[in-house]
Amino acid sequence: MPPGPGWLSLSDPVSRIPGVGGALAVRLAQAGLATVADFLLALPFRYEDRRRYSTIAELAWGTPATLLVRFGGVRSFRMRRGTLRIEAVADDGTGALRVVWHNRYPSFAQALQSGRTAAIYGAPVAGARGEMRIENPETELFEEGEESDPLHSGRVVPIYHRAADVASRRWRTLVRRVLDALSPEFAAASARPEDILRALEDVHFPEEPEAGARARRILVEEELLVMAARIERKRARLHERPGIRLVADSELSRAARDALPFPLTGAQKRAVREIAADLGSGKAMARLLQGDVGSGKTVVAALALLLAARNRTQAALMAPTEVLAEQHAATLVRLLSGAGVRLALLTGRVRGSPRRSLLAALSAGEIDVLVGTHALVESPVRFRKLALVVVDEQHRFGVAHRSRLFRKGASPHVLVMTATPIPRSLAWAIYGELDVSILDEKPPGRSPVSTGVREEASRERIYRFAAERVAAGERVYVVVPAIDEGDRDVAATSETAARVAALAPGIRIGVLHGRLPPPERERVLRDFAAGRVGILVSTTVVEVGVDVPEATFMVVENAESFGLAQLHQLRGRVGRSSRRSWCALVVGRSATEEARQRLRVLEKTSDGFVIAEKDLETRGPGDLLGTRQSGIAAMRVADPIRDLSRLGEARRAANDRLSRGETIASDLFGYSSAPKSEGS
Ligand code: ADP
Ligand code: MG
Repeated sequence: MPPGPGWLSLSDPVSRIPGVGGALAVRLAQAGLATVADFLLALPFRYEDRRRYSTIAELAWGTPATLLVRFGGVRSFRMRRGTLRIEAVADDGTGALRVVWHNRYPSFAQALQSGRTAAIYGAPVAGARGEMRIENPETELFEEGEESDPLHSGRVVPIYHRAADVASRRWRTLVRRVLDALSPEFAAASARPEDILRALEDVHFPEEPEAGARARRILVEEELLVMAARIERKRARLHERPGIRLVADSELSRAARDALPFPLTGAQKRAVREIAADLGSGKAMARLLQGDVGSGKTVVAALALLLAARNRTQAALMAPTEVLAEQHAATLVRLLSGAGVRLALLTGRVRGSPRRSLLAALSAGEIDVLVGTHALVESPVRFRKLALVVVDEQHRFGVAHRSRLFRKGASPHVLVMTATPIPRSLAWAIYGELDVSILDEKPPGRSPVSTGVREEASRERIYRFAAERVAAGERVYVVVPAIDEGDRDVAATSETAARVAALAPGIRIGVLHGRLPPPERERVLRDFAAGRVGILVSTTVVEVGVDVPEATFMVVENAESFGLAQLHQLRGRVGRSSRRSWCALVVGRSATEEARQRLRVLEKTSDGFVIAEKDLETRGPGDLLGTRQSGIAAMRVADPIRDLSRLGEARRAANDRLSRGETIASDLFGYSSAPKSEGS
């Protein structure tokens, strides 16, 4: 069938684009562009105004310009690795200047020699003798007659990131073909089909550069709107679930006060009030408790558990590891057994007849609060009346796990807790279906962890200090970057352990990495907690929730390879008591000055939110814990940093429209708000 309007649809594979053969289709798919929609949403990163080319005569120092030139005097010089430095003289009739390209292949020199015209884009700089020249311009060599082709010349031209090894003119030609052959039907799903069709045309081939920017804004708006609608619908569904009404009376408040060895912080009080309101509402709670490391989330959770127990229902606390589960169980027994709450711990280590009698007691309602790993809610564990599930360090469980939890038949109240500080707007994009309580205040009496960026040269001193800490009855963590290649993790940790052993003789050193089988891992951690191991050399597996109050010193090797937010999490393993604590961020010799500067943020602040913002600025959201699994990663045209501020707006708009009963749909961004077609 000949190409023409209506011939291509968004979901077609790229191989259906006229001119895309099998080999190219494979390369495109490898570059993440499998469908026509993928291809179209790979937007130009800039435009070049070729309605009128600049001339060599009017070039200004340092100002980028697009020239239409012919090349002469092409010379090439061999560089390392078989590439060439190529020089040529560009002439456009108004003047001539030298152009230099580095790292090119001989075929490029041949093409230049062919006498074809070219559009080049670059800024003139001074050559060795002060003459004007252009270095490494973007160069489009035109085929015969192409210099007057209205697709590439005499117009505002889109410039794309090079992908799948396709030259820019070919890419442009393919985009034009797709736009010409595309069935406009997909736009019908949108509330403003004309705008969307227009924007898609304009974002690639605008009449003027501003029209391109405008078109991009429209597409971003559309994407944010459908993303917001998706979140809001999910949220509405979660909040429609009926929940067991748990009431807090004055007797309960008294029990709570009695249970706590300290007064709650203002933030904790606020969170407890918000949670109590949810639990008493008759609808099921779906709430996120976000609080920096050490902000005291466990106590807040304990009070929620107490509330459930007092209402003669059952509750569960789920932790990502056995060590954490045991730790929580110990804390909760301390806090709640005085109030008559019956607690039990269920992990993989509880087997045989103890396990059987525990399960029997649970189903008979003789256990009020069950603490354990995720097996709690997955296995054939039967509660008599489960009303509340608390999930600690929830990012460890992943989004899929979270969904499964909410779908549990009895629709329990759910409280998820995370220590990952995320700016509010991003938090919404990631956890938007949840209500959020934030603990933005630390318990009193904690002095910040003294943190210093250190060079490898000071290692000896650092480990001498580590030995002193251990001698004083304290504990030391040494963290090395995980390399994610199993065996090399093992090598990295044992290499470091050997070095530490040499520098801190006579101290028992434990080693922890992802390759250790879980029971072994738990054993090492228990030895460390009990003081049988003084220094723990570990990959980032200690990042989450491990609470050894005696640990006062953390050394991070090759600190430059971590994100700030992650280092902040790691640092949260020390400073967990009233003892003074320290953190040494050791940078590798090859670390850049920029990397050192970035790390100094941690010397100055211990505010997780400030640190997360910095991380977001310098490294992007992919590095913030938890974002990789969220809708953020799926954003096509919106930029999660630049467009962050517009998320709130999109959310209001989506809410308005959904509450008026409108559907919000977009085939372009693969989404419909109609309940039937929505995944979770
Ligand atoms: P996280 O939010 O990192 O899970 P935890 O709940 O483990 O923090 O609390 C960290 C430490 O602070 C615990 O030892 C806890 O007993 C203590 N703590 C929590 N709340 C308070 C408070 N209001 N006053 C004093 N200490 C507190
Ligand atoms: Mg915790």
